[in-house]
Amino acid sequence: MKVALVSYEVYPFAKVGGLADVVGALPKYLKKFSVEPIVIMPKHKIVEKNAEKFSYSLRKIKENISVPNLKTDEKFDIYQTFIPGTQIPVYLIANDYYFSAEQVYEGPDLAEQAIYFSAAVFEALKVLGEKVDVLHINDWQTGLVPVYLKTLYKDDEFFSKTVVLLTIHNLGYQGIFDSSYMNFSGLPDYLYNIDGIEFYGKINFLKGGILFSDVINTVSPTYAQEIQTKEYGEKLDGVLRLRSSDLYGILNGIDYDEYNPETDKRIYVNYSLQEIEKKYENKKMLQKELNLPQTNDVPVIGMITRLVDQKGLDILSEVLRYILNMDVQFVLLGTGDKKYEEMFKEIEKEFPDKMSANITFDIVLAQKIYASSDMFLMPSRYEPCGLGQMYSLRYGTIPVVRYTGGLADTVMEYDEEAMKGNGFGFKEYDSAYLLKAVARAVDFFKNKKGHWKKLIENAMKTDLSWERSANEYVKIYNKALNKRR
Ligand code: ADP
Repeated sequence: MKVALVSYEVYPFAKVGGLADVVGALPKYLKKFSVEPIVIMPKHKIVEKNAEKFSYSLRKIKENISVPNLKTDEKFDIYQTFIPGTQIPVYLIANDYYFSAEQVYEGPDLAEQAIYFSAAVFEALKVLGEKVDVLHINDWQTGLVPVYLKTLYKDDEFFSKTVVLLTIHNLGYQGIFDSSYMNFSGLPDYLYNIDGIEFYGKINFLKGGILFSDVINTVSPTYAQEIQTKEYGEKLDGVLRLRSSDLYGILNGIDYDEYNPETDKRIYVNYSLQEIEKKYENKKMLQKELNLPQTNDVPVIGMITRLVDQKGLDILSEVLRYILNMDVQFVLLGTGDKKYEEMFKEIEKEFPDKMSANITFDIVLAQKIYASSDMFLMPSRYEPCGLGQMYSLRYGTIPVVRYTGGLADTVMEYDEEAMKGNGFGFKEYDSAYLLKAVARAVDFFKNKKGHWKKLIENAMKTDLSWERSANEYVKIYNKALNKRR
């Protein structure tokens, strides 16, 4: 089975968020299940800048290709590289007008850029002679790919057997633009309709992806259910319910080589479950680095996050002082909304021996916090998958979470009797329950050492591998192919 992963971001070539990590990792693991993957992405300016840092080279292999249907004469070239350390080809759509901004989501016109990329995918595959079984598209930037396939390319022999899987990484971003882009896209006018890509007087690229793909998935089973409700559906819940029987949830994996406490060069001291005492050496070093009292008697609660409403900071702000009145230390790393940056700085002044607020983006410090903390806090309002809790589990740091989306699928409430479970949490989005969950975790840390050890063991043994996810993806590729047949 040949699968083209189509994405605006792919690690390490161009990364803004988690989307890049997923598309950069998944193809490597698909190979283990006899899938032949190729990757298609725009040749953003940053791709050239990253070449030296990540030791890959770019080679131009085709040039001057037009994109019929679009209201533009802009032509594109195709460059080729490979996912580092593999022979998986990456084809890059190059056009100086559309893809030469400094940042991925900058440029003359985000809507035109996404339309151009989506339509160019078809011409690129033809020129390359790459007949694929599955087009695996990702997020709104590629949402129009199945719309093109099922309208303007529907009679094209080259794509007669091709099916589409759409992965939604975050429903909060949909690609909503002025209806005038219909004209630029060359798509038939009848699509500008409530049953098509029209959305409250505008056009919605993700809606196109949802309606026209053969199969859809999101990045956790719980989020796949949640987004079909009004509360989480971001105005697309109705459309998602319509596709309910073709909508799946597959958890992301994490890179076990990169996130490994036994070999991670970014942390102070390497450790494993067998030598868990060394985790506490990390804790002492972190306390020292952040000017907190060096002690193992007090639990360190870590939190690493974008400081935005999605992450549950409103309910945290209601009870943070109560939390700090317990015998704990709190280490925050994050940037984002000014009001939250200021709140954490303020509280650091009030509790200098207990709070360390690091308002910066720092990947090395992040790793040290994952390794050194006893608990990791993620009280998200919604969370499609979430990586923070997965890294924490891998480093034996016990997550305290709101049970939503991927958090509900990876963190299991600790059951004292059965000694099962790997964390603590709460369901209702309410600060009182958040406080209660933190208090429960602190009680276990302080008064139930045997259980705490078991929690760490359960956490570190949780299966978060990409193998598991890749296997699930192959199953839904087959579901899509069977539907077409
Ligand atoms: P989201 O993608 O919604 O931001 P995730 O939990 O899926 O949330 O992923 C966030 C990732 O970004 C994690 O790997 C986290 O460690 C990292 N991160 C967030 N803020 C910072 C920061 N200030 N410094 C370093 N890493 C950060």
